[in-house]
Amino acid sequence: MSKSLSEVDREVYGYIQNEIGRQRDTLGLIASENYTSKAVMEAVGSPLTNKYSEGYPGKRYYAGNEYIDKIEMLAIERAKKLFGTVHANVQCHAGAIANFSVLFSLMEFGEKFMGLELSQGGHLTHGSPVNFSGKLYKPVAYAVDKETEMLDYDEVKKRALEEKPKVIIAGYTAYPRQINFKSFREIADECGAYLLADISHFAGLVAGGALPPVSPYADVITTTTHKTLRGPRGAMALACRDEELGKKVDKAVFPGTQGGPLDHVIAGKAVAFHEALQPEFKEYAEQIIKNAKALADELMALGFRLVSGGTDTHLILINLTDKGITGKEAQIVCEEAGIILNRNTIPYDTKSPFITSGIRIGTPCLTTRGMKESEMKEVAGFIKRVIDNPQDAEVKKKVREEIKELCSNFPVY
Ligand SMILES: *Cc1c(COP(=O)(O)O)cnc(C)c1O
Repeated sequence: MSKSLSEVDREVYGYIQNEIGRQRDTLGLIASENYTSKAVMEAVGSPLTNKYSEGYPGKRYYAGNEYIDKIEMLAIERAKKLFGTVHANVQCHAGAIANFSVLFSLMEFGEKFMGLELSQGGHLTHGSPVNFSGKLYKPVAYAVDKETEMLDYDEVKKRALEEKPKVIIAGYTAYPRQINFKSFREIADECGAYLLADISHFAGLVAGGALPPVSPYADVITTTTHKTLRGPRGAMALACRDEELGKKVDKAVFPGTQGGPLDHVIAGKAVAFHEALQPEFKEYAEQIIKNAKALADELMALGFRLVSGGTDTHLILINLTDKGITGKEAQIVCEEAGIILNRNTIPYDTKSPFITSGIRIGTPCLTTRGMKESEMKEVAGFIKRVIDNPQDAEVKKKVREEIKELCSNFPVY
């Protein structure tokens, strides 16, 4: 019963050790990832995984939920405090299912909603034809301006008034700029739509006060908990000001779309929210943006074209069209050198989402490790050397060694 993993299963244990080494020795630049704390992992690895607790605190379908209730209530209270909302549902298993639950609570199947064009940074759940959102509802898209590569609120408004969607989604996976939620609120009010803010990517920046609060403007917020927020893999849905809407969201999560909650993950969320409420997290959130700006400035100084010419957040999108390399190739050669990032379409990309003309990078992981602006300069240099010499095995080997050395000064765990 109580044997350790290394005794029970050498294979899985071994691969976990390998993965820990990979996380330790490479530069994690994936904008949607982070390193959660040992405290969060302790909660997620706890015997809470054994419990069934369908329902909500005080209203469970199974016995034995005395302590589970307390933990979920802590997570709810902390989430509400962090984001300034009247309601929180912390049971959502993932960002995609949180969006499903919320759309399920706000619309009938077949109704129309609006989100950002997917190739410009929208998420699959914001209307992709292969996703439930595109199959069960009628998505219409707004686009970023071709010149500035930023949201044009007059265009969004025009589109919204023409289309009269029931829901407008704001919040993206690959948009480097701050979103003006006040403008989105005005647009939603004018066309009678709900405003859903999907802050999955930058929730930690909002929680830490490095970006302005969203709850004064949105009707509902959805967010993952594992990106900038630095919690366990999972998500939540928050009704900002309307408790009745919150009850509808709760019903849509359970019994609408999910069964029993992942109590161990909810405990991890409660711990992560506690961490995010501490003053150090405010510094962390601010440093993420300082690092992203430093990295962006250095990349531009080294001759890279950045989508929208910079960043206001944790995220940078590099346009590779003048570098003679695709996003797909860049991702592969960077990985060979120990730089972990992802290919990404850029606005009005002429290449397919599988190939792409861009790469997306972000600073949440490196900032968690304690890196600051001076290390960001080094990181930009590593990227430059590899992208300029994609076929040069010596360059990649040398960069990989230098990165390992840099990483050893900023341990993850
Ligand atoms: C990451 C993300 C999601 C999906 O989260 P999963 O946990 O991967 O399902 C949804 N919306 C946005 C904007 C995201 O960035």
